[in-house]
Amino acid sequence: MNMMLMKRFRFFTGMVACVCVPLVVSSCATSPEGRSQLRLLPEDQINSMGEQSFEEIKQQTAESKDAKKRAYIECIANAIIPQLDQDNNPALWEVRVFADDQANAFALPGNKIGVYEGLLKYAVNQHQVAAVMGHELAHVIAQHGNERVSDQLAAQAGIAIAAIALGTSDTSDSNKKMILAGLGLGVQYGVILPFSRTHESEADLIGLDLMAESGFDPKESVKLWENMSKAGGQPPEFLSTHPSSTTRIKDLNARMPRALEAYYRAQKQNKKPNCHL
Ligand SMILES: [Zn+2]
Repeated sequence: MNMMLMKRFRFFTGMVACVCVPLVVSSCATSPEGRSQLRLLPEDQINSMGEQSFEEIKQQTAESKDAKKRAYIECIANAIIPQLDQDNNPALWEVRVFADDQANAFALPGNKIGVYEGLLKYAVNQHQVAAVMGHELAHVIAQHGNERVSDQLAAQAGIAIAAIALGTSDTSDSNKKMILAGLGLGVQYGVILPFSRTHESEADLIGLDLMAESGFDPKESVKLWENMSKAGGQPPEFLSTHPSSTTRIKDLNARMPRALEAYYRAQKQNKKPNCHL
């Protein structure tokens, strides 16, 4: 390496050290299950990407015309949302039922929930729908989208470039694609991308707690898995598994005593959702 290159190299590594060390230190976070995560994106950026994506999905997919289904899904969401954290109020959330036959649902940062009518073929009562919604909301509260984008940025481009990319106020097309993929959405909306095995397992457990704390029967989550694993065709996001159904059912059952305690506690607090079609 000649002197000129050496100087440039030192300048570059120096810049990396000052730009990135504080960034990395401040970006190490812990998931609700105690797993350490890299989260590089500011929360407001992730939220606004979630909001934008939801608007675009709404433009591409019609809302369900079935008022009973809409009221049913809203009733279930209204029972779960207040359990997310103290400040959560269902009025701050947008819940939409889409007229589409796929057995799917999603939640996005920025307080958005989408449920496709087709899900109701497999989630046959309020408890089973709550199991799916709890799972999807768990991806959001555990910030899996942010983590996935951060891991990709760190792996593909290196921390220095990640810092530069995130320092710009407008989001370039390639950043946008990466963020959308991180949120679980394909470039073509309607394609919901699978999360990793780690994220799926974590969402299953957090989701189980959430449904139980909301007053839904956590044992129904296992029945839902059994219904879902019989689903043919393209697997729904909820089933976008790397973990096999049997592993997931085993993990849910291992957590069941704790979830049942939360469920009985909720019952005593008179949290008894009564949502039906
Ligand atoms: Zn999932």
